[in-house]
Amino acid sequence: MFTQFKFDQILLDNVKRQGYEKPTPIQTASMPPALEGRDLVATAETGSGKTAAFLLPIMQKLMAEPRGRTRALILCPTREIALQTNEEAGKLGRGTGLRSVSVYGGVGFEPQTKALRTGAEIVVATPGRLLDHMGRGNVNFRDLSVLILDEADRMLDMGFMPDIKRILSSLPQNRQTMLFSATMPSEILSLSNRFMKNPTRVSVGRPSTPPKTIDQAVYAAEQHEKTSLLLELIRTEDMDSILVFTRTKHRADRLAKQLSHAGLRAACIHGDRSQNQREEALDGFKRGRYRILVATDIAARGLDIQGVTHVINYDLPAVPEDYIHRIGRTARAGASGKAISLATREDGEALRDIEMTLGCDLPLSNAARPRTAARAESRTARPESYARPAAVSAQRTPQQRGPQQRVPQQRAQQQRAAIWPDPKPASRPEPRSTSRPEPVRASRPEPRRASRPEPVRASRPQPRRASRPEPRRDSRPAPRSPSRDDLPEYSNVGIQIH
Ligand code: AMP
Repeated sequence: MFTQFKFDQILLDNVKRQGYEKPTPIQTASMPPALEGRDLVATAETGSGKTAAFLLPIMQKLMAEPRGRTRALILCPTREIALQTNEEAGKLGRGTGLRSVSVYGGVGFEPQTKALRTGAEIVVATPGRLLDHMGRGNVNFRDLSVLILDEADRMLDMGFMPDIKRILSSLPQNRQTMLFSATMPSEILSLSNRFMKNPTRVSVGRPSTPPKTIDQAVYAAEQHEKTSLLLELIRTEDMDSILVFTRTKHRADRLAKQLSHAGLRAACIHGDRSQNQREEALDGFKRGRYRILVATDIAARGLDIQGVTHVINYDLPAVPEDYIHRIGRTARAGASGKAISLATREDGEALRDIEMTLGCDLPLSNAARPRTAARAESRTARPESYARPAAVSAQRTPQQRGPQQRVPQQRAQQQRAAIWPDPKPASRPEPRSTSRPEPVRASRPEPRRASRPEPVRASRPQPRRASRPEPRRDSRPAPRSPSRDDLPEYSNVGIQIH
């Protein structure tokens, strides 16, 4: 029960309004030390409720303090996470009079500057844009008393460590610091040793473990078969809301087009899409306007999209840990979900790396078609193609369709070995490098469109907000400038105090 934490009644009412009946394990573990003002290093599975785990104690503390000065800073890796965190601050802080503002790149400086200068009590920021504001003297952290480093491992991956160290060195030393991370690489631990005072360590769930409620499967498919296999899976499985990951932006674009041509409502999100396109795609997906969102890894971590029933790895991720982050987009907050990966013959190494990270094999859900049979079947059939999913090839009626049939274990092992032969132990490759096809290092482009500070207490129902992946430093075509009609209704709103 949240009442055990002695939160202010306003916060308890907001928690109730959100439908949170009891604290999640990470909340139970981290809220007491957070409320005591202790430094904290927390490891938690993705989607475990860590945002509320730090927001509620921050708000409890700030409610008792004078307003009009920035007292809490939340650093996060991407615009999506900044917006999402700010949105959650809006919901959990309703009626408290606290203000929060999200500060991130790719949008105009002015509204952010205004909100920072009027001393929004909570600042949720990506490191690059925050440094820009700090350089312009827009933000005053003299009274800062709480710092949160959210998704610290992701910020490390994205090359933000030098920026974070610069920010940390200009914050007051007398503060509470809390660090949340899905994994704890040594760089993060040394950061915590350097910048934190005797932190309480909290770890909930084994890091690198996807939620148990995700049903995982792998399908063997040649590259050229992937789209038709995906279409068949969509047609035959009960898929409501599908997040599909591709390895590159180009493949994401192409697949989204193919799905749309097949009559499916599909949108696409990646680092080269304009702000408005990304907003529209994510918002449309969240609201059900699109049934399918095709994304690169930019959307893999931190995004909280309710009701994703299926995550499909059209391409396996380049880094095994990203597999866990990707599939963590389904089965949020205890719901169940399904994760399906399409793997080609060349993906054997990547698949083994993922399975090594997971500590188990992914069940194979379709069988390799015997070469001779395939040849006999058709002159045009490709001899090395794979069988359709069992549920499809059996041509069952909709009534007969149950959960996807799995290949029996022994047969599956033989088939796996035929498709992805295990290398001799001596030649087993090292886990692959951590380079990603789509770097997501934040850049600081010229202002394009205004962002708004988020009123913590909204005077009207909060529109669902699309996330914006942090733009890359490379060149891309300038997005069209948005007209007023493109912008959500709140986009011209300045900071609001309720
Ligand atoms: P997060 O890990 O912060 O991204 O949270 C994942 C999801 O869990 C979000 O949709 C939260 O709204 C939801 N959530 C957070 N705390 C609770 C709770 N105590 N009970 C149920 N859902 C929660």
